[in-house]
Amino acid sequence: MAGPYEIFVLIKQVPDQGSKAGLNPDGTIDRAKAKRMLNPFDRYALQAALHVKRTYGGRVTAISMGPPPAVEILLEALEHGVDRGFLLSDRRLAASDTLATAYALYKTVTHVGKFDLIFCGLQTTDGDTAQVGPQLAERLSLPQVTYCEDFHLDDGRLHARRIIEGGVQFVDCVAPALITVANSYHPLAYKSFRGAWRVQQLQRNPEELGKYIRTVDLDIIQADPERCGLKGSPTIVAATEKVGELGGNCSMYEGHAPDEMVGELIEKSNLKEFLVA
Ligand SMILES: Cc1cc2nc3c(=O)[nH]c(=O)nc-3n(C[C@H](O)[C@H](O)[C@H](O)COP(=O)(O)OP(=O)(O)OC[C@H]3O[C@@H](n4cnc5c(N)ncnc54)[C@H](O)[C@@H]3O)c2cc1C
Repeated sequence: MAGPYEIFVLIKQVPDQGSKAGLNPDGTIDRAKAKRMLNPFDRYALQAALHVKRTYGGRVTAISMGPPPAVEILLEALEHGVDRGFLLSDRRLAASDTLATAYALYKTVTHVGKFDLIFCGLQTTDGDTAQVGPQLAERLSLPQVTYCEDFHLDDGRLHARRIIEGGVQFVDCVAPALITVANSYHPLAYKSFRGAWRVQQLQRNPEELGKYIRTVDLDIIQADPERCGLKGSPTIVAATEKVGELGGNCSMYEGHAPDEMVGELIEKSNLKEFLVA
């Protein structure tokens, strides 16, 4: 099967780690107070999805599960050239662990329709488990290429290079397949002026925007609420602990030639005794 390809990319909104969100009394992240951002790892997945569309032709659909503000990252994806977005949002999803998340995303993906490739980020910066992509592939009975840092398609066959401990591995499989994209893949290109302008126009016209971004809930995707949220999550967080901020004095060496700066650093940091003459 040659292109065009039907491409799905899974993206998640995470708390901006620079925003000092803080924790709730029960130790969970206080997400309401945190600034929000697109999971940085998902930027590579987006780039990979858009690369397939631009190189081989096709359509890119971004899918996210999260509270209503997660629509922001779908708009951001549209600005980058994604064709449409689906947001799964439902209060019954609160407190989902990776098992429940992968189940809910599986139901969303099958609701959205046929696909050739699903791209995920490697991991998230909040949950940080790197489990959702592989769990979703298992549920969909798909071949999966994790830690993928480069790939090309040849008549529907995926040839990929993935990172393994101490080296790289070359693998190939036939689409449909799921790929988790490593952060050594190409960074996400800047959004185009045209894309940003288009989204601005869409935001002024909610009816038109609704044609590009759809919000669905558990009833629409026919997911079992018992398998979502806290009820569907066997993970127990026994305790969380706040770690102290890393402190320390910091001096900036600026305005000198590099060898002078290195000399100054060695002089001031008592490194001399460790250096072999
Ligand atoms: C007991 C418990 C309660 C939790 N309660 C909440 C909660 O109330 N609200 C909350 O937001 N989180 C909650 N979490 C965190 C949540 O379970 C995880 O963030 C979620 O399951 C995804 O796992 P992860 O972040 O480790 O994703 P990873 O497996 O590290 O993500 C890999 C990739 O999978 C895709 N992906 C992951 N999650 C999503 C998503 N939601 N939408 C689209 N793509 C996705 C992305 O492509 C991502 O790069 C809870 C976790 C636990 C253990």
